[in-house]
Amino acid sequence: MVIKIKQRNATWRNKDGKPRTFGKGARSCKRCGRYSGIIHQYDLNLCRQCFREQAPKIGFRKYD
Ligand SMILES: [Zn+2]
Repeated sequence: MVIKIKQRNATWRNKDGKPRTFGKGARSCKRCGRYSGIIHQYDLNLCRQCFREQAPKIGFRKYD
């Protein structure tokens, strides 16, 4: 008996193989490639984890 396991599409592509233009798989982090928590604002295209690391280098500062 074969048990089929639903595999999560790693690239979030449609059936025809084209990358999504909107939704979860539209953008990935340009640094680590993850699809969750992407900050597209200010043309960053980084996930929040990478943003935290990169922010000081890019010039973002924390204000109290
Ligand atoms: Zn990242």
